Amino acid sequence: MQDVVEKVYEQVVARNRGEVEFHQAVHEVLESLGPVIAKHPHYADGALLERIVEPERQIMFRVPWVDDAGQVHVNRGFRIEFNSALGPYKGGLRFHPSVNAGIIKFLGFEQIFKNALTAQGIGGGKGGSDFDPHGRSDAEVMRFCQSFMTELARHIGPSTDVPAGDIGVGGREIGYMFGQYKRLRNSYDAGVLTGKGLAWGGSLVRTEATGYGTVLFAQSMLATKGESLEGKKVLVSGAGNVAIYAIEKAQQLGATPITFSDSSGYVVDEAGVDLELLKQVKEVERGRVADYVERRPGARLVTGGSVWDVPGDVALPCATQNELDGDAANTLLRGGCGVVSEGANMPSTPEAVEAFQKAGILFGPGKAANAGGVATSALEMEQNAGRTRWDFATAEAKLTDIMADIHDSCVAAAEEYGRPGDYVLGANAAGFTRVADVMIAHGIV
Ligand code: NDP
Repeated sequence: MQDVVEKVYEQVVARNRGEVEFHQAVHEVLESLGPVIAKHPHYADGALLERIVEPERQIMFRVPWVDDAGQVHVNRGFRIEFNSALGPYKGGLRFHPSVNAGIIKFLGFEQIFKNALTAQGIGGGKGGSDFDPHGRSDAEVMRFCQSFMTELARHIGPSTDVPAGDIGVGGREIGYMFGQYKRLRNSYDAGVLTGKGLAWGGSLVRTEATGYGTVLFAQSMLATKGESLEGKKVLVSGAGNVAIYAIEKAQQLGATPITFSDSSGYVVDEAGVDLELLKQVKEVERGRVADYVERRPGARLVTGGSVWDVPGDVALPCATQNELDGDAANTLLRGGCGVVSEGANMPSTPEAVEAFQKAGILFGPGKAANAGGVATSALEMEQNAGRTRWDFATAEAKLTDIMADIHDSCVAAAEEYGRPGDYVLGANAAGFTRVADVMIAHGIV
């Protein structure tokens, strides 16, 4: 790391003690900026780097709620409004017991550059709570969401901050939160949340967008080598929103996804995943991966090790951060994997990324490869603002174009800074320069 960025990184570690995921995300971006600063030293002027690693605003609040047995629970809510240079803060809400300030900050930081890559005029933010929706009734989830939104509503708005879903937050939770926001504000501000239901301001393709985009990114990377996904064996982790629609798009492009997982284990289905059954189990019944295996002859459930132990051509990590470590990366490489496209945020550890890059395989980092979700959220905002609704084909064509543009921006930036084929450098450099140029134009704010 260059001296100038090293100093900024040390300050981040000292100021944000114990927030290891945030340190990791900042390190990865700053490391990539060496060649950018060397070529354009003005990006280090005016404490720009120091400003970009400091959130504009951090909100932390109490979320009290009552369960079905009458017991009172207290969770913690977060919203990190990280950077508004390019537009209103935009980024999802995560409900998971592991959520803390460091995790939300890493996600918010990543979101700045991801959103810049989409070229859609959206700033970076993220939020969530350590609430665990697993095993909770709809009524409990509703009461939690109402309490969470009662505080969050003061801080968000269609031109201020526009949250969406993430782990543990899907259509049901967005619905409860939108209902409470509307009631508190007495205003039907459809553009305040994205990922809404189709009958009340949602966009076609938003549900599919992140998973579809991750696969489209893999397809674009393969195209640079004259290859495609056709006939390839695909390993997917996770069994949530991103994983399910990554599997769907991979199947549409002629590949065979053979795995998925949740926190109880992973499934190998050598015949190819039965997508309708997986949707029934996960989206309709909110079940576990074992429920799929019970109804699918030939599929097996594995509860030890990880999905990356299975040999395959393409890996799509779609569960959570740091789910793919250095050992798993080497196992994947030995199994013949030549493409990794990250559906999740920061799923590969630094050791894993290093192993992929050393091996020279195609590696698409999450901030580029999973940007289709937020890009389609911005398309939802656009439809809300115009009080219009596009059909599926129109929205999907826009998503496809945006993913192709993101891919090409990464390729161009990697070439410009002397590391052709390095999508990590390309994504960080292209995202950073777009935000940095606007921060300079806005002065010291
Ligand atoms: P969901 O909640 O729909 O699904 C998450 C899946 O990952 C579940 O199968 C869950 O299993 C599994 N998972 C989560 N945490 C862990 C863990 N600690 N260990 C093992 N398995 C785990 O979330 P999404 O599909 O929306 O999000 C997945 C990833 O994609 C996240 O990293 C998210 O930040 C990222 N992402 C999502 C976007 C979106 O549009 N939804 C946009 C861009 C990125 P279980 O149910 O057992 O916990």
